[in-house]
Amino acid sequence: MKCALVTGSSRGIGKAIAIQLSKDHGLHVLINYSSNTKAAEDTLGLIKENGGSGELLQFNVQDSEAVKNVLGGWQEENADKHIEVLVNNAGVTKDNLFPWISEADWDQVLDVSVKGMYNCTQAVVTKMLRKRSGRIINIASLSGLKGVPGQTNYSAAKGAMIASTKALSQEIAKRKITVNAIAPGFINSDMTSELDQDMLKKMVPANRFGDAEEVAHLASFLASDKASYITGEVININGGVYS
Ligand code: NAP
Repeated sequence: MKCALVTGSSRGIGKAIAIQLSKDHGLHVLINYSSNTKAAEDTLGLIKENGGSGELLQFNVQDSEAVKNVLGGWQEENADKHIEVLVNNAGVTKDNLFPWISEADWDQVLDVSVKGMYNCTQAVVTKMLRKRSGRIINIASLSGLKGVPGQTNYSAAKGAMIASTKALSQEIAKRKITVNAIAPGFINSDMTSELDQDMLKKMVPANRFGDAEEVAHLASFLASDKASYITGEVININGGVYS
């Protein structure tokens, strides 16, 4: 059985991607999340309503032991199932001007995005290499390309994801595994719910924030056979705010 693992898919962009991958590709979706079981169950419910299948897999992506135990344990118990698509989506922000960013906030933002990507990719890539197929999609950000004031930690994390995407894609392209990054701009989700949308949308040529479903369609395309010659790319999805 072909599966997709979407980290941080209890809410927001990850949730929309999990639902879309199930709809478009019939993948059994592993819904990873940090603590919000109710929201993760909601994602699973929506997948099932559409006739799809999935299951919850709770672990903190930055915790290598937890990833080994929970994801590694799942893989051992499900040797017949193959994670064909990995979406490294879990991410957090802890915004502040640089002088006021605490070491803890610096580390956490980097650990969730970068260490999380390392932990989850490590767990699945060997089997992808053996099977000679796979899709790795890293959810980066406009911040990782442009650099955004007030987000030096987040910009560093997303920039690192982008550089790692490019490097890994070249290592494993021969084995028919693609590695790409998506760089969203302002997308409606809990992460952006506190922002002044009326003010910020004026900076966006499309004059609006994007929806998680719009990012999900792009991720679904990158996961498809149609995208098999696209690798090492960073694809902007930002309503024209940066290119
Ligand atoms: P969100 O609404 O805040 O959702 C975050 C998701 O990540 C939740 O499912 C959360 O799980 C999970 N999560 C957080 N820390 C985790 C951890 N340590 N281990 C496992 N799961 C964890 O965020 P979003 O807006 O959908 O963002 C998704 C991704 O897109 C992030 O990487 C973000 O940086 C990126 N992005 C977002 C925007 C935007 O405008 N929204 C723009 C550019 C890039 P719980 O529900 O259990 O807390």
